[in-house]
Amino acid sequence: MDILDKLEKYTEKSDLCWEWKGEKNAYGYGRIRIAGKYTQVSRLVMSVIVLNFNPIPKGMLVCHRCDNPSCVRPDHLFLGTPSDNAKDAYHKGRLNILNASKGTRFKKPL
Ligand SMILES: [Zn+2]
Repeated sequence: MDILDKLEKYTEKSDLCWEWKGEKNAYGYGRIRIAGKYTQVSRLVMSVIVLNFNPIPKGMLVCHRCDNPSCVRPDHLFLGTPSDNAKDAYHKGRLNILNASKGTRFKKPL
């Protein structure tokens, strides 16, 4: 099965977040085994879909605009440095995520 088929198979899409229905790690992040190695699904989606099969630049993290670790929706993901990630969490304050992205309103999943 190719990577995209695998992603489709385990993703439950909605108008908001796309929930990963496959395996998750202890923090709720989706994971998938590719060639015998576990990969974080959000990183895989970033690399394969957002970056069009290019690797994630060294040292960059895949962050969630929606703060939903199990979400794998490409437009809910963004690349950030570890310090961006910390700032992002601080600015959102885990409260106001409506302003987290321009023009698109995301609701925090229940
Ligand atoms: Zn999301």
